[in-house]
Amino acid sequence: MATGGGWAPARSVERHGAPRGGGGTRSKSVAPCPRRPSPSPARSRPAPDNGGSADSCRVRVAIRLRPKNSEDLAYGSDFDSCVELQPESKRLKLKKNNWICESYKFDEVFSENASQKRVYEVVAKPVVESVLEGYNGTVMAYGQTGTGKTYTVGRLGKDDPSERGIMVRALEHILSSMSFETDRVAISYLQLYLESVQDLLDPEKTNIPIVEDAKTGEISLPGASIVEIKDLEHVFHLLQIGEANRHAANTKMNTESSRSHAILIIHLQRSSRIKEENSSLSNDTHDIFPDDLPLVLKSKLLIVDLAGSERIDKSGSEGHMIEEAKFINLSLTSLGKCINALAENSPHIPTRDSKLTRILRDSFGGTARTSLVVTIGPSSRHYSETSSTIMFGQRAMKVVNTIKLKEEVDYETLYKKVEREVDQLTSEMERQQKLMKNEKMQLDKKLKESEGSFHDLRMTSNIRIENLEKEKCQLESAVKTLMRDLEEERGQNNLLSEQIAELEKLVNENKQQQQLENLSRMKIFTDTTKEHEKEMEELLRQLQEERRCSSSLKDRMSVLQQELCDAQSSTQLQESMAHELEKKLTKVTEEFTSQVQSLKEKISELISEKEVIYEELKSTQEKVQQEMLHRQGLEDQILRLKWSTSDICAEESKTSYGMVRSGSGLGNAAFVSKSGKIREALSGQRGTISKIFEEVGLPNVLALLKSEDLDVQIHAVKVVANLAAEDINQERIVEEGGLDALLSLLETSENTTIHRVTAGAVANLAMNGSNQGVIMNKGGARLLANVASKTEDPQTLRLVAGAIANLCGNEKLHLMLKRDGGIKALLGMVRSGHAEVIAQIARGIANFAKCESRVISQGHRKGRSLLIEDGVLTWMVANSTRFSHSTTRHIELAFCHLAQNEDNTCDIIASGGIKELLRISRESPRDDARNLAKMALDSNPAFLREVQ
Ligand code: ADP
Ligand code: MG
Repeated sequence: MATGGGWAPARSVERHGAPRGGGGTRSKSVAPCPRRPSPSPARSRPAPDNGGSADSCRVRVAIRLRPKNSEDLAYGSDFDSCVELQPESKRLKLKKNNWICESYKFDEVFSENASQKRVYEVVAKPVVESVLEGYNGTVMAYGQTGTGKTYTVGRLGKDDPSERGIMVRALEHILSSMSFETDRVAISYLQLYLESVQDLLDPEKTNIPIVEDAKTGEISLPGASIVEIKDLEHVFHLLQIGEANRHAANTKMNTESSRSHAILIIHLQRSSRIKEENSSLSNDTHDIFPDDLPLVLKSKLLIVDLAGSERIDKSGSEGHMIEEAKFINLSLTSLGKCINALAENSPHIPTRDSKLTRILRDSFGGTARTSLVVTIGPSSRHYSETSSTIMFGQRAMKVVNTIKLKEEVDYETLYKKVEREVDQLTSEMERQQKLMKNEKMQLDKKLKESEGSFHDLRMTSNIRIENLEKEKCQLESAVKTLMRDLEEERGQNNLLSEQIAELEKLVNENKQQQQLENLSRMKIFTDTTKEHEKEMEELLRQLQEERRCSSSLKDRMSVLQQELCDAQSSTQLQESMAHELEKKLTKVTEEFTSQVQSLKEKISELISEKEVIYEELKSTQEKVQQEMLHRQGLEDQILRLKWSTSDICAEESKTSYGMVRSGSGLGNAAFVSKSGKIREALSGQRGTISKIFEEVGLPNVLALLKSEDLDVQIHAVKVVANLAAEDINQERIVEEGGLDALLSLLETSENTTIHRVTAGAVANLAMNGSNQGVIMNKGGARLLANVASKTEDPQTLRLVAGAIANLCGNEKLHLMLKRDGGIKALLGMVRSGHAEVIAQIARGIANFAKCESRVISQGHRKGRSLLIEDGVLTWMVANSTRFSHSTTRHIELAFCHLAQNEDNTCDIIASGGIKELLRISRESPRDDARNLAKMALDSNPAFLREVQ
């Protein structure tokens, strides 16, 4: 329950607890009395309050200050406002003059700017909420005419909701809070003027009496209209009617609205269930109000717009107006007196002195929650009225009410409910009665039917019993007759038995005879049957045989048919394949023919090309022939020149010198000796190399032979080869380990240039007699033979052959040379066919043969030539005249030296060497060769024999 939110706390001067005097008695008088038979047994409960204090029940008073109007303003500054508000402390200062000023505290202080809404919420809303909870309430406006009472309370504000006064807002609030299904709200709108109550909703009704219930003390206005309302529109409609009637009445009575009191009574009835709040009720109460009784909360809200509180003398009233004012003031004066009495706790409250105080009996010192708006104007002209108004408010604040809740049994609803239940029960009873009646009738009917059928049953059973008796007698006589017949039958039976015995005897005899006949017939029958069975069996067997045959024939037939089918299909397949193949064949044949044709064309083209090439070849061959002849001539010339210089010297000297300058592009000695230019170039080159050699030193040069860089290695070998061409360097190079490095290169290097230049260097070193043994001992011959077997390069082969040829000139090394494969390698290099290579081979053989011949002739060695074993003799015999003149001369000389050794005779003869020996002796251009051949022929008898 709202307890005046926003209102100031109670002051110490206020009374606490239950109302005293008449008020208290009255409130008690409405309390329920269980023993009293009352048409409206009601009960009242004290309002729930905060902490059980009655403080919340004090009359609440708010001051509202009207804004200045034109009249106030017209007086200007002479009449300054005599009122000063302090809303924060809820105080009002009233200035009498510049010296006297009084301060009053109220529950709320509204300035001229306070909105209608705020005024409603602070002043009226708690009262309305209380009314909605079932308590009575009063909201009243008190103040001098023109200070805004009607504005605060009765303003309709139909078009501008912000203007709406407390009446409209309270009804709006109630309508929105209640339930139309269970609750009802109705209004009465009255005017009190000259102590007469007039109905503003029905102005014809005047002088409405005020009736007080003797028992409950409740006030009612019988005859005043109570109009139930449903919505706000209806509210506006009714209030407008009331306003119009108030205005019309006043016009008629030649008065102003400010002289009458307007009272709006809002009757609210809300249903409630006792169960909901039964915790606060005593057991006695339960006895009166059973749980399911419908209860109603009935409450009233009075909204009062009082007449102006000004004094009559001041308003200038005269004549009847004075009388009127007296009446007006009777009610107001009486109200003031009552408030004073209540405020001062006076034992007597003069409520009955005026109609207003009678109507407001519950509002002051009663059970209602009451709020008062005291309206004042700001003008100091009305100081005394304002002051008395404020004092009225101050006194009213001291009045304490004891608000009580009144609940009544809702007899109307209860009656309707009971009536409904009685109706239901009555109809149910009637229905039950009807049902029972029907049942009874049916049972009677059934009983009658049963009685009838029982009678019938009895009759029929009697007749049956009689019949049965009769039947029994008949049966007894029949039994007797039957017994008699039975006796007779028995006698006849005995007779018949005898006859049967006789007949049986006869039958047995007949049977025996019959059996004999039967046996003989049976035998015959059995025999014939057996025969038939045999025949049958034979026939069956034949039949089975036939069947088997036929089934096998059938099988074969199906197999043959299948085969036939397969054959047919395969024939078809083959035919189609043959057809396909034929097609393919035709196609292939066509292709083949066209290919053959094109090939033929190509062949003829090729033949013609071949002819052309052949022609070209022929002319080229001729040219080559010419070139060959030219070259041959040149070679002959070279050889001749060679012979005339070095080779002849070699023959004369101890050491062979034929290969001195044969390595690494350093030219041939023949050319050097022949060509001055080349010689000059070479000597220049050598000079440079010698210079480098002197600068760098031999060990450094030799170290380069082991360089990782191939180019460096190649150049180092070239330098070493050139140095080795000089006699003075040859021994030193070997001493410094150059030979080892060179032989290692021959063995390990894969590079052909290295092989070629190294072979040249070794060849040059091998020109030195003391070096030759070292080379052989270090396996040089073997390494050279190895290189010869691996390469086809003619320059390399020429230099290798040259090196071996130099070694061949040392007879002490011959055996080692042969053993290390040097001779075989030398002869093997013939495969190159290169003239210069073959020239070196021939030189080597000649050197070998000559040295060997010398050793043998000197008697240091004996036996067949070492050359023969390796096939040299055979090669010489076969090729003596095939090569250039110089080569031929070497071969001839070698052959002639071999012919000097008698141990070679057989081999020479065997190889056909005699012819060769004869040819040399006659045709050789060299005298020495011719002489040696003749000498051999002449001295060797075997040869002589062969020649002859
Ligand atoms: P009363 O009913 O006390 O004689 P009224 O309510 O008729 O006074 O007010 C007199 C005039 O002052 C009206 O014109 C009314 O509109 C105006 N008035 C009163 N109070 C206010 C207010 N708080 N704000 C604005 N106008 C007001
Ligand atoms: Mg008014």
